[in-house]
Amino acid sequence: MTSPSPWDINRERMVEEQLIPRGIHDEATLRAMRTVPRHLFVDDAMASAAYGDHPLPIGSGQTISQPYIVALMTQALALKGHERVLEIGTGSGYQAAVLSRMCRKVYTIERIDALLVRARKVFDRLHYHNIISRIDDGTAGWPDEAPFDGIVVTAGGPKIPEPLIEQLADPGRLVIPVGDQFLQELQLLEKIKGEISVKTIEYVRFVNLIGIHGWSA
Ligand code: SAM
Repeated sequence: MTSPSPWDINRERMVEEQLIPRGIHDEATLRAMRTVPRHLFVDDAMASAAYGDHPLPIGSGQTISQPYIVALMTQALALKGHERVLEIGTGSGYQAAVLSRMCRKVYTIERIDALLVRARKVFDRLHYHNIISRIDDGTAGWPDEAPFDGIVVTAGGPKIPEPLIEQLADPGRLVIPVGDQFLQELQLLEKIKGEISVKTIEYVRFVNLIGIHGWSA
């Protein structure tokens, strides 16, 4: 057996110190967070900070979310392994990578070309072939591939975009930060037998969801 690398040790520490004590208990989520090399999703100059308890800049005024928030949003989807999941806001690609270890297929949409180009290179490098991505306004969803068993929006909007609710399967779970541009409620919407319920699971601060069903640019 090979001995763990410093990255492996940092990643394990992240799980033990930042995730489990804050209530991340879903085994599949913890396994994915232990597996995906987060340091590859940030610039080399920031790699040593990749496992810290904070978000980091990824260029174009955007961020890779704090590990705990990625884990919380992932856990909220309650994935079993068979699902098709839509992510809005690819950013660095890290959240999509984590999801890809836990479900059948991830569809991810980003509005900034340079970010998606970089994220795709990392997906290829890691052979994460069950991630499909495109450039677009994700607030309109991905109608051609709907319905999705899970939807995660990794930017904060003023309301839950209606097309995403329509494109959610039944049963299905959608996680999204909703609020103003400074503070949002992380909301979990569940669709079960045609009934919709929404609850708040955390308070968060995300970059803006910009689009036809989000904030104007
Ligand atoms: N999930 C990302 C990660 O793991 O690195 C974090 C994403 S960052 C917090 C939010 C991203 O949402 C940014 O890259 C931003 O460009 C993108 N975004 C904002 N509005 C969007 C929209 N309407 N459609 C697609 N992407 C959008």
